[in-house]
Amino acid sequence: MRVGVLALQGAFIEHEKKLAECGAETFEIRQRRDIERSFDRLILPGGESTVMGKLLRELELMSPIREMIKAGMPVMGTCAGLILLAERLYGDDTVHIGTMGITAKRNAYGRQLVSFHTAADFKGIGEIPMTFIRAPYIESVSTAEPLAIVENKIAAARDGRQLALAFHPELDDCVKIHEYFLNM
Ligand code: GLN
Repeated sequence: MRVGVLALQGAFIEHEKKLAECGAETFEIRQRRDIERSFDRLILPGGESTVMGKLLRELELMSPIREMIKAGMPVMGTCAGLILLAERLYGDDTVHIGTMGITAKRNAYGRQLVSFHTAADFKGIGEIPMTFIRAPYIESVSTAEPLAIVENKIAAARDGRQLALAFHPELDDCVKIHEYFLNM
């Protein structure tokens, strides 16, 4: 199993470490030619979605990645990655990749806006640790199914082969989400 990790900005190294723990091979996607290799999974990490979106466009990675996901490439977007996947942003006309049936609200999680840690149930896995950093939440779903609820908001959802998480599974001492994604 070979996983391409978008490595333009943000928390990509932490995902690579988790994937290595799960026995998957990883490589970094930094430019157009990197996605011409063959691979089985794609990860869009946390970071800053506005910056990542801009870089994806400038590097001409946005459309090929969008087409790849539409054609069935399994993808996991965490935090800013969730924002990149969302078909709509709440109160904002921006759409980045836009393949997933969720509406995301940026910088929106709870009173503890900067960062917080909790544990909550994830459908199909059970209780897992969750770290939120200036996190979006999923304001509503269209075609996606909610998988986790935290503070009465949707913190994770799946839409076919697309998985979006408001939290950072790469930062906790738990590989269950990465295993789930690799088995998807
Ligand atoms: N606040 C960031 C954004 O809007 C997401 C934060 C994160 O990825 N940890 O893109």
